[in-house]
Amino acid sequence: MYNFSFQNPTKLIFGEGQISKIASSIPKDKKVLVIYGGGSIKNNGVYDQVSAALAEHQWSEFGGIEPNPGFHTCLKALEQIKADGSEFLLAVGGGSVADATKFIAGAACFDGDPLTILTEGAKVRKALPLGVVLTLPATGSESNPNGVVTRYETQDKMPFYSRALYPQFAVLDPTVTYSLPEKQVANGIVDAFVHTIEQYLTFPVGADLQDRFAEGILRTLIDNGPKALSEPKNYNVRANVMWSATMALNGLIGLAVPQDWSTHFIGHELTALHGLDHGQTLAVVLPGMMEEKREQKREKLLQYAREVLAIEHGTENERIDRAIEETRAFFESLGVQTRLSDYGIGENDIPPMIEALKKHNMVALGEHQDVTPEVSAAVLKRCL
Ligand code: NAP
Ligand code: FE
Repeated sequence: MYNFSFQNPTKLIFGEGQISKIASSIPKDKKVLVIYGGGSIKNNGVYDQVSAALAEHQWSEFGGIEPNPGFHTCLKALEQIKADGSEFLLAVGGGSVADATKFIAGAACFDGDPLTILTEGAKVRKALPLGVVLTLPATGSESNPNGVVTRYETQDKMPFYSRALYPQFAVLDPTVTYSLPEKQVANGIVDAFVHTIEQYLTFPVGADLQDRFAEGILRTLIDNGPKALSEPKNYNVRANVMWSATMALNGLIGLAVPQDWSTHFIGHELTALHGLDHGQTLAVVLPGMMEEKREQKREKLLQYAREVLAIEHGTENERIDRAIEETRAFFESLGVQTRLSDYGIGENDIPPMIEALKKHNMVALGEHQDVTPEVSAAVLKRCL
């Protein structure tokens, strides 16, 4: 087990009817800016619940954050913050709205060009306080300090991070996920699953409690994921998925273990260059990554096969093959395709993706920094 220190300051407010709690979670004397996406919250009653909860606050709104939030949209929100004198940001939406709100919160207190937060990793030391009303369980953004923002004109999808960007609170009401399109439910389950895998399927092993946490999340997602699609109004199913997605990336399961993230970083280039949803990119890259890294990850793949998928019989190689097949089949059972060819992407598209990884300095990925551009190319070939 590696050394660690852990402090996650986000207060989680979980359950049906809890959106009203934002009233007491945001100081009454703070001017609030409510930030949201393309309007789903106006059709499913979430906007009305937020308005009712903020009845005694002074607040304004900024809509139009796109999925894979755009840098320029964030700049527009910054102008509105200046005009309105906003002092507290409330993100109402999925990971894209939460990530954009974090970027905006940091940029609002940043001396210099906010683009450098993305392009040069410039440090965000201060940020406006923010809270999240989560509408899509997937990213864990509601209680972590990370975000990803895209600069569309250059096709750069870039991560950022600062401890100043932890939301103060997050409201998780599983009933607000009833209105999600099936595709987004499925993408979210894949994202939470792969977040867990990126912190679990790593070597060396030895953090037993972390492994049991991770295996619990993976099994909960395998049990409840398909039901979230077949029984969309089953509260407990939605609640288990929502809680799993938050726990997958709030820092807890990543303590004391090596972390991978190569599947995510390769996936970002697939989104930037080919427009795949984040979840789709992960469903494509993960099985290829498991195949490519099967020797280094052998012990953990066997553990995953045994503890998560209950695969007991066969030679080691047969068990690993089956574990990879069953992972692919799980994603496909949710309706998420797992091959580059399913999205019209072929072998000729691989070199530009490798160039993009190099441009973003994603040249030493994985828990041992040995996923070089050559290895990434080999992974992508396995994904065709
Ligand atoms: P999203 O991009 O936030 O939302 C996808 C779509 O779902 C949007 O069209 C949104 O519509 C709709 N939607 C959300 N909630 C809904 C609801 N309750 N009912 C109906 N429609 C709803 O999806 P996401 O998967 O949560 O976020 C993806 C982004 O997060 C990517 O950019 C990814 O790279 C990033 N990410 C961040 C982290 C992190 O740690 N911060 C981790 C992984 C991924 P509206 O626009 O109308 O709301
Ligand atoms: Fe993700």
